Amino acid sequence: MILYLNAETNAAIRNEGEKGYPYEICGFMLGETDVSGDRLINEILPIANARESEARHNRFEISPQDFMRAEKRAITAKLELLGIYHSHPDHPAYPSQFDLEHALPFYSYAILSVIKGKADTINAFILSEDRLRFEFQGVKIWR
Ligand SMILES: [Zn+2]
Repeated sequence: MILYLNAETNAAIRNEGEKGYPYEICGFMLGETDVSGDRLINEILPIANARESEARHNRFEISPQDFMRAEKRAITAKLELLGIYHSHPDHPAYPSQFDLEHALPFYSYAILSVIKGKADTINAFILSEDRLRFEFQGVKIWR
């Protein structure tokens, strides 16, 4: 299963990551699932980071209200809520232990590495069925 980002959402996530640097940014990814199970993301919904500023560089938090807002938007736009993206300022685009402990099943987790203020690699992961680890999910730019 591959996570496709269209050109606009790819650019928007990268732009968010650079704007938010040196803090982590995060948001929802909305889109469609095709017959083979690949996910096509064509809209993002940025989330205001709820954490205190001193913790913002290594934590992100999504409230139940954020989830409700994203689900409403998905229904309105006739899209599915398929995943969550966040940035890793000056860290590789791989999940941390914190990310694993806070991950939910089903969702794709896209992680953008932002190195010295410049958007770098973006990878995506999905929780394994036993919820003990992340499985790598390829990211491709669509269109
Ligand atoms: Zn992370």
